[in-house]
Amino acid sequence: KQKILVIGGVAGGATTASQIRKLDKESTIIMFEKDEYISFGNCGMPYYIGDIITERDSLFAATPQSFKEKKNIEVRTRHEVIDINRPSKILTIKNLQTEELYEESYDKLLLAPGAYPFVPDLPGIGIIPSFTLRNIEDMDYIKQYINEHTPSSCAIVGGGFIGLEMAENFTQIGLDVHVIERSEQVMKMIDPSMAEHLHEHLKENGVHLLLNSSLEGIESDRTLKLSTGEQLKVDFLLFAVGVKPKVDLAEKAGLTIGETGGIVTNEFMQTNDPNIYAVGDAIQTFHFHLQTPKRVPLAWPAHRQSYIAAKHIAGEPVSFKGLLGTSIAKVFHLTVAATGLSEKALNQMEMEYKTVEHSGKSHAGYYPGAEYVYIRVHFNPLDGKIYGAQIVGGDGVDKRIDVIVTAIYGGIPVHELQALETSYSPPYSSPKDLLNIVGYKAEDMIQKTK
Ligand code: FAD
Repeated sequence: KQKILVIGGVAGGATTASQIRKLDKESTIIMFEKDEYISFGNCGMPYYIGDIITERDSLFAATPQSFKEKKNIEVRTRHEVIDINRPSKILTIKNLQTEELYEESYDKLLLAPGAYPFVPDLPGIGIIPSFTLRNIEDMDYIKQYINEHTPSSCAIVGGGFIGLEMAENFTQIGLDVHVIERSEQVMKMIDPSMAEHLHEHLKENGVHLLLNSSLEGIESDRTLKLSTGEQLKVDFLLFAVGVKPKVDLAEKAGLTIGETGGIVTNEFMQTNDPNIYAVGDAIQTFHFHLQTPKRVPLAWPAHRQSYIAAKHIAGEPVSFKGLLGTSIAKVFHLTVAATGLSEKALNQMEMEYKTVEHSGKSHAGYYPGAEYVYIRVHFNPLDGKIYGAQIVGGDGVDKRIDVIVTAIYGGIPVHELQALETSYSPPYSSPKDLLNIVGYKAEDMIQKTK
């Protein structure tokens, strides 16, 4: 019987606590969350703002009461952990309601503090309402602002997945949306040619896309000053320029912080202190292919790492296999998905690779609703090992990216995608699926290099 303390009560913290309880009915588990809510679906927040999800309550998977009653896990919300004393294995906690400080000892500690949304320090910030979207408080704040002030326009700084999801959702509720993106493309994890499909689609949907452009400041008359010299007037700003791992506590406690800025963990999610584990957006793990340091602030890694940490704490170790950085997002009518290494990453590492490209209809053209799907797969020209893939299209993108992920994990080379007996009926696919064709095309490319 151990005493296990958990810092953070959302994806990583709440999942690990629940998972430990499944494996260990005896230990004491206490979870600290500095905010008011636990276990909420951050990923659903853009759609609540866009009125696609209409029930705010549906975003909450659990409450402190349900954790106590169903799982015998004690949850203390509005309690912030402010210090970790490693030699004596004691936490100092601040009750944010009473300002009172107290201590709690642990046998095992799990860190799942997440990340901060990054906000650049620009002149004039605060002159117009500015938001980030990280937690329920942020979401409520945006929703309340929109309801009370009925704005008609906004600028989103950052063209990553949160920026683009919000571009769609703000458009959905009638706003005129500008996306300001510093680089020459949105969604940096995909290749430029794939991003072109998104650029066109955003424009078709009325989004003003400002590429190669960064926000330099806000004038006193509320004008946004852009690096291109352009000027823009909008009602409010949303910053979606990425996240910074929350490592302050860990750093203060002398835990190792890696080159990606995350807390360094091993294959069992232990930090350099074997009694302290860490999961989620705050940590650094390693790349599946390259074994090099990697940080992926997404929900799948947080959930998988929670399982790995819980198994180790319960004495039934399973090792983590590393991350590919698989991701998917809806951008209006298109879906964009990626896994593994992009063209840019491969070039940076000077790895030899070939790329097979294919585009075609998501299912039999004669059955209504078939949509174009564009696929790019990067692979080792000698043995066909798949390094990475990207897919953009109107339908069927999700299943194809997941087949590729399965192939990568299972070591299936690109040319053998032709032999996968994929499911077919006109509403779903074609007798030769798009990925089968990718396999046939790649076979020729591999043979030619031999
Ligand atoms: P969090 O979920 O942020 O939880 C950390 C918690 O720890 C916070 O509630 C924080 O208050 C608390 N905490 C921090 N420090 C302390 C302390 N000292 N004491 C007590 N409590 C503390 N991922 C996807 O894979 N797909 C998506 O579609 C997707 N959409 C997203 C959309 C939005 C708008 C956002 C914001 C994120 C999205 N994500 C998505 C990312 C995903 O939500 C995160 O990767 C995941 O929540 C990370 O879990 P975590 O437990 O590490 O951090």
